[in-house]
Amino acid sequence: MNILEKANAIKNGEIKALDNVNNYIKVIDETNDSINAFLEINKENAINKAKEIDEKIANGEEVGLLAGLVIGIKANINVEDFTISAASKTLEDYIGSYDATVVKRIKAEDGIIIGINNMDEFAAGSSTETSYYGVCNNPAAPGKITGGSSGGGAAAIAGKMCDIAIGSDTGGSIRNPSSHCGIDGFKPTYGLVSRQGLLDLSMSLDQIGPMSSDVYGLTLALDTITGYDSSECTTLNTEIPNFTDIAKKTKDEEKPLKGMKIAKVKEFTEVTDDKINDVVDKAINKLVEQGAELVELSFDYIDICLPTYYLINYVEFFSATRKYDGREYGSRIEETCGEEVLRRIQIGSYISQQEYSGKYYKKALQARSLIRNEINKMLDEVDLIVGPTVPKLPHNIGDKLEPMEMYAYDVLTVIANLAGIPAASIKAGEVDNIPVGLQIQAKPEDDEKIIKAIAAYEL
Ligand code: GLN
Repeated sequence: MNILEKANAIKNGEIKALDNVNNYIKVIDETNDSINAFLEINKENAINKAKEIDEKIANGEEVGLLAGLVIGIKANINVEDFTISAASKTLEDYIGSYDATVVKRIKAEDGIIIGINNMDEFAAGSSTETSYYGVCNNPAAPGKITGGSSGGGAAAIAGKMCDIAIGSDTGGSIRNPSSHCGIDGFKPTYGLVSRQGLLDLSMSLDQIGPMSSDVYGLTLALDTITGYDSSECTTLNTEIPNFTDIAKKTKDEEKPLKGMKIAKVKEFTEVTDDKINDVVDKAINKLVEQGAELVELSFDYIDICLPTYYLINYVEFFSATRKYDGREYGSRIEETCGEEVLRRIQIGSYISQQEYSGKYYKKALQARSLIRNEINKMLDEVDLIVGPTVPKLPHNIGDKLEPMEMYAYDVLTVIANLAGIPAASIKAGEVDNIPVGLQIQAKPEDDEKIIKAIAAYEL
């Protein structure tokens, strides 16, 4: 049963929301100690909410889009009465005092928030190993990292602990763990989802989005959380399609991708392990079988993507962390944070001091424009860019990587954030029993084309 069928079965009383919740609680009880996907669970709350929904349904009352579905929220998104630590010791005592816009919308659509997902500290990482609360184990490849930074959410989906997990993606943090855990993850166009209530990593790159086990988990979440928010100035005030309808329609069509042009990119293949390319090529073929026309394009700026991304990330993160001075809440970040967060603060501070000469940050912004223009030019020629999400397989938990080795995981995912374009990762297949993701990218506000491709792929 897919997520839409489940949602419908709950709405017409065939499945009880309470059973859905209890089933997940059972799995969480049995496995969360070893997977570490959730940092906090509120069972009682979830059970009460489920009973309320079942009662409304029994009385013939209208319920929301997400009625009875069970949802995890990343630990950097404010949810009232949960500990919103961003997986940092700095905020270990910080209790969410309000709901982020996305959380308000999820609650308004009767989604059941069961708990808070583990992550890399302040979302700064690609492995979830920097969490103050310990690493996650990958349910799809035990002993391997889940990827990150939304590793807890991805593990919760792969480990069947909830229906939808809400993550954030600054340079790949939804798509990278989705790839490593063999699930679907979606980073919308920058501005399509409100960031109000998200603890910033790098605000010009951060975007909230969903992870789930199939396209309908993504679309039901997107139909709930996208849209203009008057309290957040970077949200787009545009018309947004109904993503669930698009997925449904796609599945009814014969060769639904007919007329769509998709492109592989030579340089993306070149930086990726051969075995991963083989699996990804097979997945791309499935899109071709559904009617898409495949071409090859070239991208000139692959070498400057990581330096550009990390420089901007360091500077914006440094600025975002100035409020963690231990006065209003939490403790002083430099005194309590881990190694990677401290590295970013220190380098970000150094660059900011040097900036009067326009040496670094200004150059990074220029490089960002080059990357954005080039990608948009490519997307003028084709509807979608398809290829690997992550260029290498996840390492074993406990292996010690140098910062540059860790950053190398992100080379194919940072581009979408630098350009503000939508991008998803879906499961392409496996290499040595380890999941590998197919990344699909589109022009700004062409999110629906990605949804169409995923729906067709999952036919
Ligand atoms: N791995 C990247 C980083 O460390 C991306 C993180 C993210 O998307 N939150 O910055």
